Amino acid sequence: MIPCSINTCHNLEWKKQLAQAVTSPAELLSILNLKSDELGLGKATELFGMKVPHAFIARMEKNNPKDPLFLQVWPEDKEFELADGFSKDPLQEQSANPIPGLLHKYGSRVLTISAASCAVNCRYCFRRHFPYDEQKYGDSNWQDWLDYVTKHPEINEIILSGGDPLLLSDEKLSRLFNRISSLPQIKRVRIHSRLPLVIPNRITQDFLELCTSVGFRVILVWHINHANEIDQHVKEAAEKCHAANIMQLNQSVLLKGVNDTCQQLQSLSEKLFDCMIQPYYLHTLDPVQGAAHFELPESVIRDIYSELLASLPGFLVPKLVKEEANRRSKTPLLLS
Ligand code: SF4
Repeated sequence: MIPCSINTCHNLEWKKQLAQAVTSPAELLSILNLKSDELGLGKATELFGMKVPHAFIARMEKNNPKDPLFLQVWPEDKEFELADGFSKDPLQEQSANPIPGLLHKYGSRVLTISAASCAVNCRYCFRRHFPYDEQKYGDSNWQDWLDYVTKHPEINEIILSGGDPLLLSDEKLSRLFNRISSLPQIKRVRIHSRLPLVIPNRITQDFLELCTSVGFRVILVWHINHANEIDQHVKEAAEKCHAANIMQLNQSVLLKGVNDTCQQLQSLSEKLFDCMIQPYYLHTLDPVQGAAHFELPESVIRDIYSELLASLPGFLVPKLVKEEANRRSKTPLLLS
């Protein structure tokens, strides 16, 4: 196999890039010319593994321990600290899990856990402790999901979530989409993925053709937190999706040290607009154990957001929301 490096990775097929993702903290520091005496040894991989594709590392600035992309993936020693109010299942998802791999939290839509891992491990992830190995994946349990949906005619949307659903091969996605097409009640399939961001080659011709051939609308929700995550390869992938009539939205998480200024969020919205991606949600951090160092005080969040409102046209301002356990919707954070 050709080893992937920062310079060659974009030419490799996405599965090869994935197989060559960096999982060793020491290797990541070496690529970025960073020192472990300042950053530690990345021991928090004991709590949650590290995984970063080279194509994403290529967008990080060398010699910069505060790079906003690096901070999202670096296993900080602070992850070992327990913080009040932070837990392993902050959204109590496991109580909304009627059958393995399917969550029914909101009336008209169900969320399916379509894969057991991701292409990148984000340190703030609210599912970092999710018991993926207790779920079922693949063709055998799709029928259970679809039977559940059929028994709930109020459901008109299926959300493919993660682990990352675009880890499924195009052949497998095609089989899943065909099964979903047999349910006339389904109007939309929403894909939440960070894979096309970290490995833009994931937007293959087969995937695009699949999305245009099905009887329901496909929505791709990108999870981009900072404008530096968007390079020319990401832009081209988004343009292909746009040309294939895939609706594209973006949701971000507001993270201390990563994107906690109005100027950064403004640049992100402008860059999303250039890529035909609509800013959609700006989430506050879910209080998941190990991620407390990303938390911002609510007063700071409100200040940033009110500045953002004054800086952008309304259609480029994502909705500021908080996700709370056992609520029938996300909670909008209203400015007083
Ligand atoms: S890609 Fe999404 S689900 Fe996967 S680790 Fe990152 S935030 Fe979590």
